[in-house]
Amino acid sequence: MSTTFFEKTTTEVRYDWTRGEIRAIYRQPLLDLLHRAQETHRAHHPPNRIQTCWLVSIKTGACPEDCGYCPQSAHYKTGLARQELMDPRETVAQARRAKENGATRFCMGAAWRQAPEGREFEAVLEMVRGVAALDMEVCCTLGMLTESQAQRLKEAGLAAYNHNLDTSPEFYGNIISTRVYEDRLRTLAAVRRAGITVCSGGILGMGESEEDRIGLLEQLATLHPHPESVPVNMLVRVEGTALAAQPPLDPLVMVRTIATARILMPRSMVRLAAGRKQMTREAATLCFLAGANSIFVGERLLTTPNPLPDEDQLLFRDLGLEPLEGPTVRCADGSEPAAEHGE
Ligand code: SF4
Repeated sequence: MSTTFFEKTTTEVRYDWTRGEIRAIYRQPLLDLLHRAQETHRAHHPPNRIQTCWLVSIKTGACPEDCGYCPQSAHYKTGLARQELMDPRETVAQARRAKENGATRFCMGAAWRQAPEGREFEAVLEMVRGVAALDMEVCCTLGMLTESQAQRLKEAGLAAYNHNLDTSPEFYGNIISTRVYEDRLRTLAAVRRAGITVCSGGILGMGESEEDRIGLLEQLATLHPHPESVPVNMLVRVEGTALAAQPPLDPLVMVRTIATARILMPRSMVRLAAGRKQMTREAATLCFLAGANSIFVGERLLTTPNPLPDEDQLLFRDLGLEPLEGPTVRCADGSEPAAEHGE
């Protein structure tokens, strides 16, 4: 039987998307976009299943970077209490609690420009080993990494490394001045070479244009392989940060961006990340319909508020959503993570 055009567009995995193609997908009537995204989603993922990830800050504040959205940057006065690196035993205890609460992925974030060497890095490796031993997917976000650090994290059992591209290359300089887009791509390449899966996405509502959102999607969707995990965040406007006065983002922009990401990167986990607290249940539901199949749970996401676990459980129950079980860290091309996936 020949493959129909629709089957082809929903099952094919491509890495050569052009900006024009992405723009055409992004701009189509929303209901058409949602329909195609949902068809794509069901061709690659079990329907009505959502993975819950637990995100914890293992080192908070005093970051030398000036990311305009971030309350942890030392450049802004946000009143955030600084916290030194967490004791690995405490981290593993938190992971155990997260697992008891249904989370299958545990993400540890540290506010560093560059992952340090020495005692602190050894402590992070100990955390990774401890959480991996609980049979959870372990993810870290520690800033820029060297090849050797990526390799050591892999050996400790790290499944995924988060390093967001945030926005388009053109808009990046408006948000961050202490590093360049190329630095981000270099760390992603080191992570990939070490055989760790990639978690990389962006933040919407920072004053970027529609073209910038399309540009971000182009960057992600032309990585080969695609990031296995694509978090889509809505800016949380924290008092004192450079972006505190941004107008609120229309949640339909989140929906449109998630749907486009789902179509462009059909096998990836698309995660509805920060900003859920600012969204209605109905907006979050549209994000799931658009192809988001993961959320972050816990009362705080690093330092900003998140819906309470009870609210999430109620939403899951009302929508008939079940937890996604089993590992999700297979590479976006369907294979196991392996070192030969160089870029
Ligand atoms: S986003 Fe990360 S790198 Fe940027 S200021 Fe915050 S903690 Fe530092």
